[in-house]
Amino acid sequence: MIVSTSVPFVDLRTQYRNLKAEIDEAVGRVLDRCDYILGGAVKEFEQAFASFVGAKRAIGVGSGTDALHLILRGLDIGPGDEVITVTNTFIATVEAITLAGASPVLVDCREDDYLIDPDAVEQVVTSRTRAIIPVHLYGQPADMDAVAGIADAHDLVIIEDAAQSHGATMSDDRPCGSIGRAAGFSFYPSKNLGACGDGGMITTNDEELAERLALLRNWGSVVKYQHEVKGFNSRLDTMQAAILSVKLKHLDDFNEGRARAAGWYRVRLEAVSGVILPPRAPWTGRHVYHLFVVRVPGCDQNGLIDKLKADGVQAGIHYPIPVHLQPAYADLGLTEGAFRVSEKASREIISLPMYPEITEGQVDHVVESLRRCL
Ligand SMILES: *Cc1c(COP(=O)(O)O)cnc(C)c1O
Repeated sequence: MIVSTSVPFVDLRTQYRNLKAEIDEAVGRVLDRCDYILGGAVKEFEQAFASFVGAKRAIGVGSGTDALHLILRGLDIGPGDEVITVTNTFIATVEAITLAGASPVLVDCREDDYLIDPDAVEQVVTSRTRAIIPVHLYGQPADMDAVAGIADAHDLVIIEDAAQSHGATMSDDRPCGSIGRAAGFSFYPSKNLGACGDGGMITTNDEELAERLALLRNWGSVVKYQHEVKGFNSRLDTMQAAILSVKLKHLDDFNEGRARAAGWYRVRLEAVSGVILPPRAPWTGRHVYHLFVVRVPGCDQNGLIDKLKADGVQAGIHYPIPVHLQPAYADLGLTEGAFRVSEKASREIISLPMYPEITEGQVDHVVESLRRCL
């Protein structure tokens, strides 16, 4: 029998096809107006996104990495300061700290949910610690009450890495991106809200910080050729903002599509022995399933991915190498064994195809293939 079903890891083409008329029109409007840099569409999208997140202000920037980097700069966190974050994250979280000139201090994730371990955070706080960056990984909020307890006790700032959690909430309905002093979002194309290129956003309830960030992203300037501070060139592109405004209207539907797919996976995989389903933390309200990460203890991870690929199923690993074992961060002096929970997870996790438009038939195919491969 020839199996013709193929399931990509993400499917950007279908989303564009579904929204083509709206997106093309929005892009056309920007082209007509030619207000390419910090144009009207940027302000419009910033307001819409702030209100979506329930934050007072939103500042569009060049990427999610820049969002986190500029927040640190805006808070005057730099050389001599320590910033605590988790090793089980995309490297950009840590690179933002490095870019600001501060020292990243890594901690392990929890076995239960793969999120930053607040107990471990408490243990590495020093007199130089300024901030904690919890990462709402895979679409699920970090344990923000526990993190806030530590931040309050030691007078630390909380900066949320919300790059994977557009629309996610805590069980008391607080949205990711509205909880810390500020949050960084990414609009990398495959994120829950994805641009047609790079883009990022900072959200905050701190008006003063928002004003500083609006300067920092634009060469320290609001009035042309007058520069208040030394800044950067990191603005959300007007064309991307126009596209993102269109997509934002559909974000709740996208996230519902992801949750529906997660439900299909859960029902089918419950019966498959050896597969551990993505945990739901007790403090989570809405999980937005940026990724659907299962764990297969003792598996040959790459062998499994190759077998799935032969069945037309694209799977991934998020992430295969924890940040502390990356060559780029060899200078931290951390070796294998430093963070056992993240290290073990990185060898056993598999991300299954996940996107809003995935069909029940495609999920069936993925699960059938996984069952066969095991
Ligand atoms: C994508 C991502 C980033 C970086 O965002 P970019 O827009 O690609 O710079 C940061 N942190 C996490 C957790 C991410 O997933």
